[in-house]
Amino acid sequence: MMAGKILIVFDFDRTLIDDDSDRWVVVEMGLTHLFTQLRRTLPWNTLLDRMMEELHSQGKTVEDIAECLKRIPLHPRVIAAIKSAHALGCDLKVLSDANQFFIETILKHHGVLGCFSEIVTNPTFVDGEGRLRIFPYHDLTSSHGCNLCPPNLCKGLVIEHFQTNISENGKKIFIYLGDGNGDFCPTLKLDEGDYVMPRKNFPLWERISNSSLCIKAKVHEWSNGEQLERILLQLIDTLLKTR
Ligand SMILES: [Mg+2]
Ligand SMILES: [Zn+2]
Repeated sequence: MMAGKILIVFDFDRTLIDDDSDRWVVVEMGLTHLFTQLRRTLPWNTLLDRMMEELHSQGKTVEDIAECLKRIPLHPRVIAAIKSAHALGCDLKVLSDANQFFIETILKHHGVLGCFSEIVTNPTFVDGEGRLRIFPYHDLTSSHGCNLCPPNLCKGLVIEHFQTNISENGKKIFIYLGDGNGDFCPTLKLDEGDYVMPRKNFPLWERISNSSLCIKAKVHEWSNGEQLERILLQLIDTLLKTR
């Protein structure tokens, strides 16, 4: 088959990067106390926007946040895997409950932003005062109706959207990589012939292990950057050799 028929969808936090970008910024920029105080009162997405307001009120700039994000390590074998999959002609996308600014800053810093055709996540913009604003992906005034997912983003709906758009131009094979509870809903949407790569011993892997009958996609687990690269590239290689 042709590489253009392979769509690889990556979760971001604890999948592409080994850490959690929200957690990283909160801890590194000294917001742990306020974050913990407000955690029970605000939805996650709104809480992060509130944290950005706090940084702005402390005189921290968007550049300061970017410098902080650039210190998050991206595993060299994950960088190599992204570059190889892209060079082979696969379509790569990010689907994440982090946000546009965090993800783009990190991927650009490591020279791989251009390998992705699309980043689907919570949108951001810098307002007139220079404050980074973070918004929900879905409009919160109308529920998306999925009780597996947080109100701001149902990744399963996004996968269905990809499937609908794609079926107009012929079937694609999906390879979905993720670690968290939010990656379970999209995993349920995958078809026979698709693949899910859950990170071993993380919540997605546990949920798949407990409900394997509901999963149509084939499951290939991984634990670290070396394994992510090896297993993903082997899978692509096998798919490219099949008719
Ligand atoms: Mg994750
Ligand atoms: Zn969902």
